[in-house]
Amino acid sequence: MSPKHQDAEEIASVAETVPVLEGSEKNSEISSRQDTVVLEKGSNLMAVLTGAGLERSVAYNAIEALRDVYNPRKLRAGQEFDLVYASETSGDTGDLLDTLRFQPDAETIVSVSRTDDGFSASTDKVELTSAPNVSSGTIDQSLFMAAEKNGMPLSVLMEMIKLYSYDVDFQRDIQPGDSFEVMYDDMKNAKGDLVRHGDIVYASMNVRGKDYRLYSYTDSDGNQDFYNENGESFRRALMRTPINGARLSSGFGMRKHPVLGYSRMHKGVDFAAPTGTPIFAAGNGTVERVGKVGGYGNYIRLRHNSTYETAYGHMSRFAKGIHAGSRVKQGDIIGYVGMTGTATGPHLHFEILKAEHQVNPINVKMPSGRTLTGKELNRFHATSEKLQKQYAQLSIEGAKVASAD
Ligand SMILES: [Zn+2]
Repeated sequence: MSPKHQDAEEIASVAETVPVLEGSEKNSEISSRQDTVVLEKGSNLMAVLTGAGLERSVAYNAIEALRDVYNPRKLRAGQEFDLVYASETSGDTGDLLDTLRFQPDAETIVSVSRTDDGFSASTDKVELTSAPNVSSGTIDQSLFMAAEKNGMPLSVLMEMIKLYSYDVDFQRDIQPGDSFEVMYDDMKNAKGDLVRHGDIVYASMNVRGKDYRLYSYTDSDGNQDFYNENGESFRRALMRTPINGARLSSGFGMRKHPVLGYSRMHKGVDFAAPTGTPIFAAGNGTVERVGKVGGYGNYIRLRHNSTYETAYGHMSRFAKGIHAGSRVKQGDIIGYVGMTGTATGPHLHFEILKAEHQVNPINVKMPSGRTLTGKELNRFHATSEKLQKQYAQLSIEGAKVASAD
């Protein structure tokens, strides 16, 4: 299907369709008047506005102004528009449009308002308030199924997996009987409707009998991060998996080399992923080496501190701006998955080097990030206790509601 042409001239020539008018009882009294009109399937904004009684020139100017902040082509059938008319006019087709207002999504308000010389458009964010919500479950078959069964929103689950990926290998560590609990913010509008699920503020995972608790904490400088109960940052100095959505295809250790055919030590881990998948810097550091290196193909080595380095092989290409000496931050894209060098298929070969020797990224005890101390630690403990209490309270209330029906 070819895209609809909705240039202003063409809109003006579109056959007039009569839009549904809601609450448009004609008010002959001289007072400010408001209509709500709906965009019908197959119609367009010009037809909606003229159908509501606006003169073509007025509708045209309002739509032209709208284009500054919103592309009218993105409007969908069912979209409602509020039309506010100036108070000094009576309710006939000569109505003077004062404001056209609509909400293209739950968090945005678009307004087109009359000015001295036409119209001007602006966007505003809908004001949202947060209300904490909780979810918990025990893993039976998989984390996904447990989350679904317990009504945990997918976005919250994904955030939890991301937060825990520094410490928990979700493919290998999780097993039946493991459990989780999480508290997150539900973002609501003025009517109290849920607009979206917000950030996790507290989570706990019990994996193979070990508790991993984390608390969102904003320090006195305003930096938010997640910490365990001892005030140690959950973020590690290095990521174990510097790629998203990849499958561990070959572990660290002795193996029969898939290309060379004989057994030898595999000094890294392989993550199978399609060519072009972004590869992240596993930690903050400096690019030590970038270029072609034998069987590694396109290769990058990063130095993170005096002890740790990471290396990445078989890349299809390097990210822009990556050259020896450049600084990178954890999570920055440094290159893309490929199969350069000795490789049978596209994958990332990833190494962690400790004192210049490759170590198993799965087992290496990751150097931790920041640890809170002194006043900051005291402040953190007050926050974490509050979150813990709040979680307990909400889960009791939730249990009462659940057992009430
Ligand atoms: Zn490898």
